[in-house]
Formats: sequence, structure tokens, C-alpha cells
Amino acid sequence: MSAVARVRAAVSPLRRRAAAPAYLPVAPLPTVDALVADLRPEEPVHCIRPATLAATARDFVAAFPGDVLYAVKCNPDPAVLRALWDGGVRHFDCASPAEVGLVRTMFASAEIHFMHPVKARGAIREAWARHDVRDFVLDSAAELEKILTETAATGVGGELGLIVRLALPKGEAVLDLSGKFGAEMTEAVGLLRAARPHATRLGIAFHVGSQCLEPLAWRRAMEVAGAVIREAGVAIDIVDAGGGFPVSYPDMEIPALGAILAEIEDGFERLDLPNARLWAEPGRALVAAGGSVVVQVQARRGDALYINDGVYGSLADAGVLGFRYPVRCLRPAGVEPTDMLRGFSFFGPTCDSADAMRGPFFLPDDIGEGDWIEISQLGAYGACLRTGFNGFDRARIVEVSDTPGDDIPLSLAA
Ligand SMILES: *Cc1c(COP(=O)(O)O)cnc(C)c1O
Repeated sequence: MSAVARVRAAVSPLRRRAAAPAYLPVAPLPTVDALVADLRPEEPVHCIRPATLAATARDFVAAFPGDVLYAVKCNPDPAVLRALWDGGVRHFDCASPAEVGLVRTMFASAEIHFMHPVKARGAIREAWARHDVRDFVLDSAAELEKILTETAATGVGGELGLIVRLALPKGEAVLDLSGKFGAEMTEAVGLLRAARPHATRLGIAFHVGSQCLEPLAWRRAMEVAGAVIREAGVAIDIVDAGGGFPVSYPDMEIPALGAILAEIEDGFERLDLPNARLWAEPGRALVAAGGSVVVQVQARRGDALYINDGVYGSLADAGVLGFRYPVRCLRPAGVEPTDMLRGFSFFGPTCDSADAMRGPFFLPDDIGEGDWIEISQLGAYGACLRTGFNGFDRARIVEVSDTPGDDIPLSLAA
């Protein structure tokens, strides 16, 4: 079977209403090079590497001394979820009814945790009564009231898990997540006490911020959690160390996963809660290496390449945040690209001048119109961020067989 038959449109799986498709391996998956030679795509093509995703998940699950909840928002593609499941992930951190529904449709026995601190009332009822979600996060008394009222209103019984999300002081994460969610320490003490009588299991959670480069951030967060737990004086069943595990991008030094896990384990042991379970909610670290996008160069002006994807597509973080990704030129026909590299910036396809990515992205000096570029380490916060702005919402998704290039560090290898 040709690669073409396996390509599908990159419509958000959260917008599809039909049941998630089954991913039966009907033919060997193509390589990215074969795919580009075959399709000569003029629209962005998202490449998913199921083997890489499964291997990364397997490594993380083996290394983490507790339950691993995949943060679905990072990449909700059914092929990604399936690969993570194959790699041993059984817990899912969902934040919306659509995510909950998708995961439940695909995996009847998955443990789904509703980890958004501000939920619609209907979303709570649906998750509880229809999708057997039992764990809900909260960071306010109002949300606690909402969860208790709405789960009871369904008339469906069950063992409620309540997890209090703690705010943290800003650390060295590239993306801070405490400005929006999380209870301050004193408030968290009150919430733990208020939630305890209603909870079959009671937990405390934090998120150090996405792409956190500092292992000590987890230690400090554990210390804050410990202070809150001691002050509250109630039994704690779950300590959730959140997400934020970093992956390697060009010229970014990241700590080894082992160094982070050592801080988490040590911090957890110091809490001295022998009956508590440890959780983590990795997103980026599980899926970054397993996804890439192939774009085409539509024009070159000096050191700027006009490409067919941009900040309103899958390259949002390359815009304002200036993320750089590993890149390589693909030119299936004609003269081989030169070995000489030059730093390029990118412009995306929309008419907005903010649709620009400064890079630099190092590519062959002779790259030009018609060449393709594979942009890697984009399995996280890539395809899922696509918008339809300016009509550039056509993109495709395909599963491929090749591993990311030798120069692309696997997330957990550092
Ligand atoms: C986004 C998010 C995650 C995943 O974060 P990463 O930085 O991708 O690991 C985990 N937990 C919560 C609550 C989140 O919002």
C-alpha cells in the first residue's frame, strides 16, 4: 500500500464527533523521506512516530516511582494516545469533556483524572456519571462545592477523589503555570481540611511550569506541599508532582530526567507519608520526540524562508517564545543539498506580520523554493495548536516508521 492511503486530515480529534478510529497496522509505515517523495506535499504534514512514543512512555513509566498520568492537552491525537497506551500509560490527565470522552472511547479501562481546577458544572456531571471519572482537582472552595453538588446530583455513587492544586512561586520554567491556577498555602490548608470528609482519597498537586530546567524546583515544591500538609493535619493519599519535565531543543541545556526524579523521590520521602501514592503528569516529555511536521519552502528572501506553516499552525512556540527545533532539509529530486549550513528565520503563511519565527534554524545554504523541511521535537504542543486563521487550516497527519534523526536527542536520553 502506498503511503498516501494512510494519510488523514489534521482535524482536531477533539472536534471529531465520531468514535475514535482503530489503529490497525495494515501496512508497513512509510519513512518521512518516502512520504515526501511520494506525496510532494504542498500542505504541512504531521508525522507521528508510534514506536518512538511507545518507547519514551515505557522508559518514563519504568523510571517514575508512582503513577504516570499523560497530560492529554499536549497531543490528543488518537494515534499518539494509542502509542502511549502501548508503552504502558494507563492514567490520563484530562482537562475538558472532549478529552475525557475521547480517552474513554478509546480505552474502557483507562484511569481518567479531571485535572482542570475550574470546570463547567455539566462537565463534572458528565465525567462522573457517564465516563466513570472519580478524581477531580480544585483550587477554591467554590470549586469544591461545585464538585460535591454536581457529582451528588447525578445520583450515581462512587469513591470520590479530591486533589487540591497548590500555587507555587515562579521558578525557572520556560512557561509559568501558577499565575492562573493554584491555591496559596493558607487557602490550600483550608481546602484540604474541607475536602477530607468528602474524599475517599485526598491529594495535593502542583505544577512547576512547563519545560522546567531546574530539578530543585520539584524539591522546593515538595517542601511547600509538606508545609501545607503538616499545617492541615489531615491524612493525604496522593502527592502529584505535576508535569514540566523538559525535553532537549537546540542549544538548550536540560537536566537529566534521573536528576529530576531523584529530587521528586527524595522530596516525597521527606514528607514521610508511607501510605501516599506519588503521581506525575508529564505531557511534553512523553510526546515531543514522537512528532514532527514537514513544511515546504514557498519563497526565500535572503536568510528568511517563507514556509507553509507558522505560529497559527503548529509552530506557535517558535513565534513569541522563540523555541528552536531540530530541522533538516528534504529534497527528494534534483541536486543534493549542500553540507554548508546557514541560519535562517521563518515566516509563516498567514498575512499577520506576527507570523514570524526568528530561529535561527540551521539549514543548507542552498535551500530554496520547493524544498521541504522536517521540523522535529514537535510532538508536544504542535499539531494540537493549529487554528484556521487565514484559511491555512489544511494539514495532514501520517504515522511513520523511522526514528527521529541521530542528532535529535530523545526526550529522556539526556
Ligand atoms: C499542561 C499540563 C501538564 C503537562 O505539562 P508539560 O509541561 O507538558 O509536562 C500537566 N499538568 C497540568 C495540570 C497541566 O496543565
